[in-house]
Amino acid sequence: MIPDRNRLKELFKAAGQTYLGAHFSIAGGIHKALYTGQSYGCTAAQIFTKNATTWKERQLTDDDISEFRRAVADTGITRIAAHTSYLINLASPDREKRDRSRHALAEELIRADALGVPYVVHHPGAHMGSGMEKGVDLVAKEVNEIFYRHPERTPRLLLETTAGQGTGIGHRFEQLAAIIERIDAQDRVGICLDTCHIFAAGYDIRNENAYRETMAQFEAVLGMERLLFIHLNDSLKALGSRVDRHAHIGQGAIGPEGFRLIMTDPKLAGIPKVIETRKGSDKEDCDAANLARLLGLITAPA
Ligand SMILES: [Zn+2]
Repeated sequence: MIPDRNRLKELFKAAGQTYLGAHFSIAGGIHKALYTGQSYGCTAAQIFTKNATTWKERQLTDDDISEFRRAVADTGITRIAAHTSYLINLASPDREKRDRSRHALAEELIRADALGVPYVVHHPGAHMGSGMEKGVDLVAKEVNEIFYRHPERTPRLLLETTAGQGTGIGHRFEQLAAIIERIDAQDRVGICLDTCHIFAAGYDIRNENAYRETMAQFEAVLGMERLLFIHLNDSLKALGSRVDRHAHIGQGAIGPEGFRLIMTDPKLAGIPKVIETRKGSDKEDCDAANLARLLGLITAPA
């Protein structure tokens, strides 16, 4: 049964201090996403700051900025990530596409900064056949270039773990570590871990032993201090399939135990977590169902 939003707010209260939310739509204004989050009782959120499927940049107006900042104050939701456009590929072997991508990523950072959003989540890119080593190099080079051109503090750029579809970079923790190693301003970057993506990439989290092993690898290769944001999605596809298809929490190939382990891991307690699962309709509020399932796992017996 899907809980109504008042019931969900009670679950959030009962869960104690947790930073949990969803990716919310900015239709009607970027600030709308936070009020939607508030209607569920959310304590974290993710947004796009433009139409993520086009190259067209969005010029924020003074109203966009003041309304968003007012929404942050009104809702108390401060753990917010802006997700970058899917078109950006810093690893493209095509110089022109790389220039365009670098420009677009800089604009993402500038918009997030204007809104006061602390994190920008970004997929590292795809090497398009030029090889992983070359791809890793190009991503680091372009990020360095952006940071040189914007020496002032920008929101933290979080590289997202990926499923490894096609020539995608970032499906092994070592690839992300190699990018970060080559970035000069390492305090300006971090990692966003996506449960669906790491699972599809071959990192198991379905039971306690597998979960501990995966987190130990993360800690050894990247370090827990780099983990600053988490995407909670179940996976429609099998372990190691390298196919990125999100499923509702507990209803995919990962299953509820993997999410219970994450929700109750004290090392991850302070890290904001958002779902990126299918929304459903007015009658079938999937965000409410998925968030309630996650909150229920915190108190569920092992
Ligand atoms: Zn994600």
